[in-house]
Amino acid sequence: MKKKFFVLSIILNLIFVLPVFTKNKSDSFLKKALWWQLVDEKQKIIQCELCPRECILQPNQSGYCTARINKDGTLYTLTYNKPVSLAVDPIEKKPVFHMLPGTKSFSLATAGCNLRCIHCQNWEISQRPPQTIQSYNFTAEQIVKMAKESGARSISYTYTEPVIFYEYMLDIAKLAKKEGLKNVMVTSGYINTPPLEELVKYIDVFRVDLKGFSEEFYKKLALGKLQPVLETLKFVKQRNSFVEIINLIIPTLNDNPDEIKKLCLWVKENLGDETPIFFSRFYPMHKLTNLPPTPVATLEQAHKIAKDIGLKYVYIGNVPGHPYENTFCPKCNNIVIGRIGYSITQNNLKNGKCKFCGYKIVGIWE
Ligand code: SF4
Repeated sequence: MKKKFFVLSIILNLIFVLPVFTKNKSDSFLKKALWWQLVDEKQKIIQCELCPRECILQPNQSGYCTARINKDGTLYTLTYNKPVSLAVDPIEKKPVFHMLPGTKSFSLATAGCNLRCIHCQNWEISQRPPQTIQSYNFTAEQIVKMAKESGARSISYTYTEPVIFYEYMLDIAKLAKKEGLKNVMVTSGYINTPPLEELVKYIDVFRVDLKGFSEEFYKKLALGKLQPVLETLKFVKQRNSFVEIINLIIPTLNDNPDEIKKLCLWVKENLGDETPIFFSRFYPMHKLTNLPPTPVATLEQAHKIAKDIGLKYVYIGNVPGHPYENTFCPKCNNIVIGRIGYSITQNNLKNGKCKFCGYKIVGIWE
């Protein structure tokens, strides 16, 4: 058994995202979902309460995310134990820069999503119903075992929207925590507060995609709403979980300096000036192919806006080799963690502090 997992770990290390195949497609693999209620007992109509869409589902109807189904008046998740992508990634790839730099993160996704981003980079798995994609069949125990054997220090729920595989993520995260692994949720934050309240006990880092700062943008680009994402961010912060934010800047759609300024001010006022924020470069993708990649100058302008406002840890993403991939000490301005792409080039942290001036750098360190 051990040999089998060792071989699998090697494969996972070699392949970026591995689509895999099993024959498990029958209802016998359904698991009863959490967070729903029967709103009409006679007609067996359900309301899902997991995310802000709060879908009303007739019998045999799936939710907007395609990952939950009403079967005879009971809501089931279609993604439990069914990852479609597994990989061992550098934690820098999430990107998460303030937790265990230079370590590996065992990463997984199931199919489906509760948003419809027209620029989604993983649309082949996020925008397809779970029943239409062949998957692994791995229990939470097996995932944690593989993660440990791969040498990863954390498990990342990523690539698609982990909210839609909530039950699977929760069970893995509970076990992972017991085994000394960290949990990282790479999310758009589109989740209701009660389920989040349960999850927040187990997730060490929420890497939240704050896509823009207007309801109009969220509606147009993701068919979602901004306000629930802001509520998620505030809630997670109140519970003292660590948050890192990414804002993908798309030319002409969300690159207005005034909007970026508003976003940064909101982050500072609601999450604090020590919240790491990434301005990431857009590349044409999925249904959004008529726009060019974001000019680096636009990202640098956003970086300046954030720094001028007083945010302490501001990064530029998707531009390998850019100086703003580094973590600079907010006090002495020396590089405390140097990076090129996903590689760590220097680590000048000592007990979580800048080794040059002793300033405490926010994060989860050794
Ligand atoms: S999780 Fe899925 S089924 Fe539930 S409310 Fe959200 S989109 Fe609808």
